Amino acid sequence: MFRACSPHDRLDEAHSQLSELFQPILDDLFCVADTCNAYVLKRGASAIAIDIGSGRWIPSLHEIGVKRLEWVLLTHTHRDQCSGLYDLDRETCRVAVPQHERHLVDGVERFWGRRRTFHNYNQVGDFLSLPRSVPVDEVLADFDPFRWRDIDLEILPAPGHTPGSIALLTTLHGRRVALTGDMIAAPGAVPRIHDLQFGYADAAGAELLARSLHLLLDRNPELLCPGRGPIIEPPEPAVGKLLTALEALGRELFHEGSLSPDVSFIQVSGHLLESKSASCSWYAVLSEDRHALLIDLGYDTGTEGNVHAFDYRSRFLPHRLEALRRHPAVDTIDAILVTHYHDDHVIGIPYAQKRWDLPVWCLDRIAPILQEPHRFNMPCLLPTPLRVARTFTDREQFTWRSVDFQMHDLPGQTDLHSGISFDLDGQRYLAMGDSAHFRDGRLSHGHIIFANRVTGENHRKVAARMLEIEPTVLLHGHHRRQVDEGGRIEGRADTPVTRDDLVEFAASSDRLADALRDVVPDEPDWRCRADWVRIDPYRVPVGAEAVPVTLIAENLLDRPIHLALRFVAPEGVEVDPPIAEMLIEPGAEHACDHLVSVLDPTACSPAILCVDVVMDGRPLGWLAEAQLWHRGDWPS
Ligand SMILES: [Zn+2]
Ligand SMILES: [Zn+2]
Repeated sequence: MFRACSPHDRLDEAHSQLSELFQPILDDLFCVADTCNAYVLKRGASAIAIDIGSGRWIPSLHEIGVKRLEWVLLTHTHRDQCSGLYDLDRETCRVAVPQHERHLVDGVERFWGRRRTFHNYNQVGDFLSLPRSVPVDEVLADFDPFRWRDIDLEILPAPGHTPGSIALLTTLHGRRVALTGDMIAAPGAVPRIHDLQFGYADAAGAELLARSLHLLLDRNPELLCPGRGPIIEPPEPAVGKLLTALEALGRELFHEGSLSPDVSFIQVSGHLLESKSASCSWYAVLSEDRHALLIDLGYDTGTEGNVHAFDYRSRFLPHRLEALRRHPAVDTIDAILVTHYHDDHVIGIPYAQKRWDLPVWCLDRIAPILQEPHRFNMPCLLPTPLRVARTFTDREQFTWRSVDFQMHDLPGQTDLHSGISFDLDGQRYLAMGDSAHFRDGRLSHGHIIFANRVTGENHRKVAARMLEIEPTVLLHGHHRRQVDEGGRIEGRADTPVTRDDLVEFAASSDRLADALRDVVPDEPDWRCRADWVRIDPYRVPVGAEAVPVTLIAENLLDRPIHLALRFVAPEGVEVDPPIAEMLIEPGAEHACDHLVSVLDPTACSPAILCVDVVMDGRPLGWLAEAQLWHRGDWPS
């Protein structure tokens, strides 16, 4: 057992002096003032607890007729919320933690081993994490229900106090009750200010908290049960006061723009809306009979996306999508067309599929990375598998509610990227995600990230296809066409283009290809790409059964190559067959199947499988690798 000394003894004394340790809030809902407020929800002689603080009150549960504590749920994993986990009877009591903070509970040693303390620009308050691991029985995923007996708790994302915080919402005796952790401690107040800063001098936590508070209010709670301080009732004035206070704090911390979510849309034309976003721009094509077809579904603000910089998963807050569903021109959203797989363009899709089972439509080349992201090791990858309902081949045309669309293979910013063209309201639109940017008023190739399997040819292909399509308006994923007088982005990414712009784009693609060739005169494509030999899947879920993997080799040179490939397996891992030999023509790809068997899958967390490469008799080393994970338990 993990025990602290004197402070707990003093708490024992305090507890024994309290006449009523368990303060009734509603029938069967009690609050215990500990190192945080712990809430006990009971049914007969059983109960669950939301946050437990030191947990020193648990042996006293009989005072309210509780014989069994069956679950502990945490709103976040700060020590003052849950140090009592070490003393829980885990034979009878299970533990559920927010999905995005699991790594701070059952793998916290890894966190402590990696947490930057020198050159530290990460101000997230996770130094208040547990000192050592505690097993986790279940994770609490955003927007999922947690069911216990007749009680349904909805899990709401509540980033702010910590990046992974949640709030729990339920109806008890006809009243909407929210258990809010440390989102709010009193009307207009938070428990601690320093938690609201994630980066160096930023107000990221404050912005996310403001957005989380808006989301909470949208759910119409009647009673807030905070992690600190008294019950808050009614919530609106108390939260409103906090939102005002956060705005003022944001201004003093020089946070750009308002902290509150902007849910407005730009009316690009009669039947086209654009999210007025400071991060990814996504679009809604509208039909006369009030159906909508979305193109991408990404973040609203950079802050939502940038949480990854602090080693946390980015989360989707659905304010604007919910606003679209309330839009007077929209009754039904039919589907989401995806330009490419980058998380900032698809982060909203798991929510849309969880809530309304919205179908995803995409180019066939892109479907695998959306459906089975574990197979790939490419930048900006969302770990959540998406359900793809319909795929299209390159140049395939389809009609949606009398609008004609065409799909295009547009391998610009990433090799797995598409474009979507359609004629609407007198314009020819091309939604092209991130494959073009305006720089200094000139259309040019987009950001180059070589790990997206990019070579000099990628943007040349985009240029050729754009000249063929001849769009009059580009629908960009991020690029802003206008700035206001203060030089600030206005959030508008639709951009009229002429044929001269498209020719200029082709010229910039050629300049890029030339620049790459100048750096490596021979073999420039080959030297752009790190993964020309790779194992598919990249993350291999291993168990008792042997797992098939595919070894893929691409020839990016302009001559045939001979490859001798040999798996370099960690101890206890066997690959059958262990070697592969092949002759590959220029521009071709070779794939061969192998079986991976693991003696002790539980030891894979992960184990690394490499591939030794000999090309034309020249040894190149262990160039490719895959990660073997027990049961596919890779961190998300
Ligand atoms: Zn906390
Ligand atoms: Zn992108």
